[in-house]
This record gives sequence, C-alpha cells and structure tokens, in this order.
Amino acid sequence: MKNRLRGQAHKITGPRAAILEILRKHPHPLTNREIFSALPKDDCDLATIYRSMHLLEKMGMVKRFDFGDGAARFELVGEGDDGHHHHLVCTRCSAVVEIGECFPVEIEQRIATANGFKAVTHKLEFFGICPECQQTPRQK
Ligand SMILES: [Zn+2]
Ligand SMILES: [Zn+2]
Ligand SMILES: [Zn+2]
Repeated sequence: MKNRLRGQAHKITGPRAAILEILRKHPHPLTNREIFSALPKDDCDLATIYRSMHLLEKMGMVKRFDFGDGAARFELVGEGDDGHHHHLVCTRCSAVVEIGECFPVEIEQRIATANGFKAVTHKLEFFGICPECQQTPRQK
C-alpha cells in the first residue's frame, strides 16, 4: 500500500492525498461529509471532496459502498485486492463490522447459467442490531 501510494504520488497531491490519508486511518467506509469533517479546517470544500472521490474511484483506489441510506461511502482499496467484501451495519447506532465471508462462487455461476448472463457479480450489505444496542433500551 505504501509503495503504491508513493508510486502514484506524482499524481496524487493536495486534497486527494489528504483524503487517502484519512481513509487509510479509518477501517470502515466513510461518507463525503465524514471525510470533510475529518479534514483540517479550510483544507478543501465539500464539492472538492465529491470530485476527488469520483476520481479516486475511477482510479480504483477507493471503493464505493451503499448502506441504503442515500449516502455513498468510500473505503480504501488495498494493493492486490479488488476491495470486494461486505459489511454488517447496526440499524440503531450505525456501527460497522467488516465481513470477510462471501457467497460460494457456485451461486454466482448458477445464477449466470440459469439466466444466460456472463460476469455476474454482487453487492450486499447486512443489517442488524449490535451487541451494545441490545444491552441499552431504545431511546427517543
Ligand atoms: Zn469495508
Ligand atoms: Zn448498535
Ligand atoms: Zn461478496
């Protein structure tokens, strides 16, 4: 990862480098607003972050995730990794657990064959109530 960042350092400067640094420190996907509030004040505006995330996604350096609440979330993609994984999200406190497990590849192959599709992939996130929220009675 370090080498990759260094290798592309001539291209990635300013706000984009700062954004990658924030994502590197953060183990779960962040929204544009979360990235914005993690950046030093006056470093860049929200519109710059939107543009930067679009570009970084096109470069394959970040991956976009959707937790179904209308806010795109971004996570750094590791070197030699396609970034494919899933999340378990608490519907009360929005805690996120990284899930390494995935469907057996046979399921995708079966779906592809049954429908005459090629190159079938999937996006999937899990939702539930985390252990901590199970302990505390629901508020508001
Ligand atoms: Zn993740
Ligand atoms: Zn929770
Ligand atoms: Zn999967």
